[in-house]
Amino acid sequence: MQTLEYKLKGKDVQFSSIDDAIRTTQFIRNKCLRFWMDNPTVRLSELNKYCAVLAKEYPFATKLNSQARQAAAERTAHAISRHVKPDTKGNRSNPPRFQKDCRSVEYKTTGWKLSPDRRSITFTDGYNIGILKMLGTQDLCAYSADLIKRVRLLRRVDGYYIQFCLDTERIEEQEPSGNTVGLDVGLSAFYTDSNGEKVKCPRFLRKAEKRLKFLQRMVTRKQKGSSNRSKAKNRLARKHLQIQRQRKDFVVKAARCVVISNDVIALEDLQIRNMLKNHCLAKSINDAAWFQFRMWLEYYGKVYGKIVVFVPPQFTSADCSRCGNRVKKSLSERTHCCLCCGCVLDRDENAARNILILGLQLVLKLYPGAQGNSETSVSQTLVERRTSATQYAVSASHLVEARSPRF
Ligand SMILES: [Zn+2]
Repeated sequence: MQTLEYKLKGKDVQFSSIDDAIRTTQFIRNKCLRFWMDNPTVRLSELNKYCAVLAKEYPFATKLNSQARQAAAERTAHAISRHVKPDTKGNRSNPPRFQKDCRSVEYKTTGWKLSPDRRSITFTDGYNIGILKMLGTQDLCAYSADLIKRVRLLRRVDGYYIQFCLDTERIEEQEPSGNTVGLDVGLSAFYTDSNGEKVKCPRFLRKAEKRLKFLQRMVTRKQKGSSNRSKAKNRLARKHLQIQRQRKDFVVKAARCVVISNDVIALEDLQIRNMLKNHCLAKSINDAAWFQFRMWLEYYGKVYGKIVVFVPPQFTSADCSRCGNRVKKSLSERTHCCLCCGCVLDRDENAARNILILGLQLVLKLYPGAQGNSETSVSQTLVERRTSATQYAVSASHLVEARSPRF
C-alpha cells in the first residue's frame, strides 16, 4: 500500500461541507461502538449492515456516501478487534472509546471523481463538496485509477489535505553496497554506528520549547470562547505541527541514508513503550523519535531490498565487542575499557559493534547458506540471494540463543 498526499485548495463553503462529512463519520463510528457495547456478541461484519439502519433513522447520515459510511463502521470494527483479539505478542489494546476529535473522512471507490489531468477532484455525494484543486508535487498520473482503493480527506490546523491509498508496492532497484552496520540509538547522539560515526540528535522540541511556552501563555490569557482565543490556539497548534514535520523530515532522511549505504542494518529491539515510563527521560525519548526511525528503516528496507534486523538489547553496552568479557558500567561512564583484552572504545560504538555481531548471527540463522563468520562473506551471500529474500524486516529476538561473540 502506498499513499500520496496533496493539499486542497477550495472555498470556505466547501471546507465546511468537509467538516460536516467528518462529523457524520464520527457520529456513525460512535453509534456503531454503542451498538457493539449493547450487543457484545454481535459479529463485526454486522456493523456494516447497521450503517443502513442508521441511514434510515437519521436523514443527515444518508448525505454521506454509502461506502464512506461503511468505512466509518470498519474503523469501529478495527478498533474493537484490536481490543478483543490479542496480537502476536499477546497484547491487547484498551477498549475503544467514543471519539470526539475525528479529523478525517474516508471514501472508498465511489463518491468521487478525478479530473482527466488529475489536478482536481470532485466529490459527488450529498454533502456537495464540489470541485477541489489539489496542490502537490507527487505524480498521481503515473498510476492507473483502478489502483486507488481509498480516498481520505483530512483536516489539519493549517488546512485540508487529501490522501490516496494505492494498492501498489514501491520497489527501487539498487546495487548492493557490501556494507553491514550496527546502530546504537541514544539521546546525546541520535545514533552511533559500528564504524564510530555519530549523528547528532536534532532535539526539535527542546529548541522550540521557549516559543511553545509563550504561545501557550497567549492562549490561556485570552477570554474563553472568544475568537482571539481560537486564533491563539491555532498559532500554538501550528507550532506543534511544525515540530512534528521537522522531526519526520529528519527521521525519513536519516533512515533512507542508512538503508541506501548498507545491505544489513542491525538495531536494538527496544521496548520504547516501557522506557517512556521513566518520567525524566520520556520527553527526550519522544523527541528523539526512535520508533518512527525504526518504522522508516523497516519501510526503506522493503523498498530497497535490504535486511533490517532487531536484536535483544540486553548487555549490548556492557559486553566487550572484541572478547565478550562483561564490563559493567554506569550510565555516566562514556568510555568502554576492557581489562581482559585492553580494548578502549567509545561506549556507544562498543554497543553498536555488539549489535552488529548479534544482528549478523541472526541473519546467519535466517539465511543458513552464508558461510564463514566474517562480515564480507555474509554480505556476499546476501548479494547472491538478493532476489530470493523478500521478507526482510524481521524481529525474531527468540532466534538468538545465549550470546557468544565470534569475531
Ligand atoms: Zn575485551
